Amino acid sequence: MVKVSDLGYRVSLIDGFDLGRENRTGTYVMADRDITLVETSASPSIPHVLKGLQALGIALEDITYIILTHIHLDHAGGVGLFLQHCPNAKVVVHPKGARHLEDPTRLVAGAKEVYGADFDKLFNPILPVPHEKIIIKGNKESLETSDNCTLTFYDTPGHANHHLSIYDSVSKGMFSGDTVGVYYRELEPDGIELYLPSTSPNQFNPIAMLAAADLYESLDVNRIYFGHYGVSDNPTEVYKQLRYWLPIFVQTAETAFNEYKTFKEQVDATIEMIFDKVTTHLASMGITGDHPVFEIIRMDLEVCSMGLIDYLVKRDNPGYNPIQK
Ligand SMILES: [Zn+2]
Repeated sequence: MVKVSDLGYRVSLIDGFDLGRENRTGTYVMADRDITLVETSASPSIPHVLKGLQALGIALEDITYIILTHIHLDHAGGVGLFLQHCPNAKVVVHPKGARHLEDPTRLVAGAKEVYGADFDKLFNPILPVPHEKIIIKGNKESLETSDNCTLTFYDTPGHANHHLSIYDSVSKGMFSGDTVGVYYRELEPDGIELYLPSTSPNQFNPIAMLAAADLYESLDVNRIYFGHYGVSDNPTEVYKQLRYWLPIFVQTAETAFNEYKTFKEQVDATIEMIFDKVTTHLASMGITGDHPVFEIIRMDLEVCSMGLIDYLVKRDNPGYNPIQK
């Protein structure tokens, strides 16, 4: 399958068809002097990314940089495999992500805790990235990809401690990964913009997440390129919805955390309660329960709820890993 969208400002988006679905994960392509990609998606998406590059007329040996917003496997799991096709590309990553690219053992173990039996189907294979292919970029460092384009990297924890947000000077856009939420494109035909926070395990921090939105706002970002999925030219609405939903997510998890004993019970109750709140919200806008968006939202809430409860457990018991128990 091949789907490439022209987003303007020399940015294209190749759909990675994660799990065979449209609009889940993708690879952004900036056709600069140094051709630069953001994200590779997981390994099963790489054939779709390669077809997309072919459709764009980009030769694989001309790709200079592959930037990873963060090293969660749905964003970066395919980078080792992808690199085998791009002999001249370097991988740009957060200082805390680099060693896990070189040796993905811990990354794989962590993902198996979260995704269990689905791991192989979702992510295999995870190949290491050679040391000499890695470029580390920390907070406020930059990269010139053409005479008129500078990318600036910002350290934006909240979703993960190894998360970069990347500001593009040409489009005045921010590649946000999972920092300021997920954009549910399934509601686009209904004229509804829905952005929900992405609170995956196991480094979720709501205070840092809100601080990242404040940072974006202070930088006067014109557009946000989401990890999931596509571009929004309405950043004000993105910040507004993050600030609305994030406290609801955390407070709802807190209720489940106090009411139930085991991690699984707490997570399951959190999924149901947040799902109800989102359903009620969308119902008020005329969206009925049989809308395809709900399947995706539920899938995301399964992971988000684990992250929320994990955060609450660690807040009360620093150093404890509830997901391993
Ligand atoms: Zn993530």
